[in-house]
Amino acid sequence: MSRFRGHTFREGDIASFGVRSAISCANQNCLWTKSVDGFVYVPYTISPLYDNMDRITIEIGMLDISSATCVKFVPRTHQADFVDIQPRFGCWSFLGRVGGPQPLSLQTPACMWSGVASHELMHALGFVHEQSRSDRDRYVTILWENIIEGQKHNFKKYETNNLNTVYDYDSVMHYGRYAFSEDGLPTIIPKPDPNIPIGQRDGPSQLDIHKINLLYNCGA
Ligand SMILES: [Zn+2]
Repeated sequence: MSRFRGHTFREGDIASFGVRSAISCANQNCLWTKSVDGFVYVPYTISPLYDNMDRITIEIGMLDISSATCVKFVPRTHQADFVDIQPRFGCWSFLGRVGGPQPLSLQTPACMWSGVASHELMHALGFVHEQSRSDRDRYVTILWENIIEGQKHNFKKYETNNLNTVYDYDSVMHYGRYAFSEDGLPTIIPKPDPNIPIGQRDGPSQLDIHKINLLYNCGA
């Protein structure tokens, strides 16, 4: 774990106040609450430091989630809990609803891709990385010897709530095959077919959308 501006980071880009684990989030009390109309409103603010193109990129990242789920990102009016999107150092988010204003960093221009925005927003909704799943060793090989010393914790697996879904190589929450590589060699290889693409950041996969709908009980 490394410390940056008072926040402890886990899994590369998940910030933590040190009180909640990645594992307990999806199962317990860090979800955003469902409104009586069936929608899950996630209030947000966007820093005035962004320009119009940045704002559009971030809003596309939101729309790619909200257009297919009951999660709706809404500009904050008075809500106590909200996502405070800022161009800090790096791309990172807290896991799930933390309570109060919770920073979500999308550095500009480094993080200005709508799929990266969707990725960090999915952390804020409670999702960990796909390769952190409890069953991941059946689907990927972690090449520990190629990972930068001091970054191996990013490849830990957790007792995750997999929502009875299959492993998703196409998830926007999956690391790329060279994540935290020491020497340019792969750190994650899919199996049995090593050529399956991983690490896309175009936007949420169909299964990502399905999992958001399951976690937030969107059909009910
Ligand atoms: Zn992440």
